[in-house]
Amino acid sequence: MKLFLSFSVLFFFATLTKAQPSLNISYISDSTQIKNLADEVMIRSTAYKNLRTLCKEIGPRLSGSSNALRAVYAGKKMLEAAGADTVYLQPCIVPHWVRGAKEEGYILINGTKEKIKLTSLGNSEGTNGKLINADVVEIKKMEDISRVNVKGKVVLINIEMNPTYIKTFRAYGESGVGRRAGPSLAAEYGAVAVMVRSLASNEDDHPHTGATVYNDSFPKIPAVAISTQMANKISSVLQSGKTVKAMIKSNCKMIGTANSFNVIGEIRGAKFPAQIITVGGHLDSWDLAEGAHDDGTGVVQSIEIIRSIKAQGIKPLRTIRAVLFMNEENGGGGSKAYLQNAKQKKEQHIFALESDAGGFTPRGFNLDMSLEKEQKVKEWAPLFYQYGVYDFKEKGSGSDVGPLKEIGTSLAGLQTDSQRYFDLHHAETDVFEAVSKRELDLGAMNMAALIWLVSEYGL
Ligand SMILES: [Zn+2]
Repeated sequence: MKLFLSFSVLFFFATLTKAQPSLNISYISDSTQIKNLADEVMIRSTAYKNLRTLCKEIGPRLSGSSNALRAVYAGKKMLEAAGADTVYLQPCIVPHWVRGAKEEGYILINGTKEKIKLTSLGNSEGTNGKLINADVVEIKKMEDISRVNVKGKVVLINIEMNPTYIKTFRAYGESGVGRRAGPSLAAEYGAVAVMVRSLASNEDDHPHTGATVYNDSFPKIPAVAISTQMANKISSVLQSGKTVKAMIKSNCKMIGTANSFNVIGEIRGAKFPAQIITVGGHLDSWDLAEGAHDDGTGVVQSIEIIRSIKAQGIKPLRTIRAVLFMNEENGGGGSKAYLQNAKQKKEQHIFALESDAGGFTPRGFNLDMSLEKEQKVKEWAPLFYQYGVYDFKEKGSGSDVGPLKEIGTSLAGLQTDSQRYFDLHHAETDVFEAVSKRELDLGAMNMAALIWLVSEYGL
């Protein structure tokens, strides 16, 4: 019996070693440290409570608005409560776009008028409170705009998100061209306004906003989003040979720029303080809802990294900075200021991680760095498997940390289960209640583990 036991113990260790070639003393101690961090987050995280504050006490946080400023001060307080060594505001300049009085929209089919929901695209110009009234013409691909007569018409840009892409961000990026570049392209061919099919993967009656980018060479025509259901309805009426008229009234406009801030909380590195690791999300949101998944979750997860590392009494070797970026949605003013400051101060930014893919179950980390560094991160991958994170194959990071590439920073982005993200992204349904506390904490926990590994071993 005794002999049998020893054999089975030996056999157990042999299989363990075989299954896990990197099993060694440091693997075991790293794994223990990560387990401690994981327990800290899963038991005592304040991310969900902070998210409630951002969503329910402050609410929508459009850049330049008084709510965005309230969020700056709330974020500063949260970072102080998390125990950061220093917390400060970093000034930035943001475009100041306002929606004005709520939009009004109607369609006319065979003389029957129907009220429809619409929302102006961010950064777009409105109709100055006047009612635009014109026939609707549909395009399903951007190339079609030169093939149909859009002069004097309202163009329905009806590009569906490709349902065959399992990673939904790919579909968003591809179909997003209609929202971003569609209004100016339609203006080039003489259209009077644009209605864009919402960039949403579900079918419901909520229009989703998002930024558009005008080309200064053409008139800045009004641009609104309509729901996926309404886009399908108008499309089928047009295909049956009937005409559809649209009536649009909106009051949005760009009123210049505003002063705002990134909020930064830092734990100073114990051994290499000059080496900076950034972890962040964006504090601003669209004005239609509470910006819970986009990107309240990234903000409170980043704060949770500071809190959990401090609460565990860890003294990171390198400096860890949580950055709550301002103005990701319609200008990137915050990320520009962050890069500019880094360059001016000649800071050494070794790594930056962004969470801006919703607070859903984490699946992996997208990486954007040299092959050699990527290899180093991938060697850590087995440490994450038991926490549900296994995908280290995708390229990418996020638009707030992205500019740091210019100064050679290695970048990463939290990858989530994104199947439901575009159901609510930029729509009035992106509210606190749509976030799961466990999924949110699991994301924060995995981010804390990666940040800790880089702080310990560098990159
Ligand atoms: Zn976002």
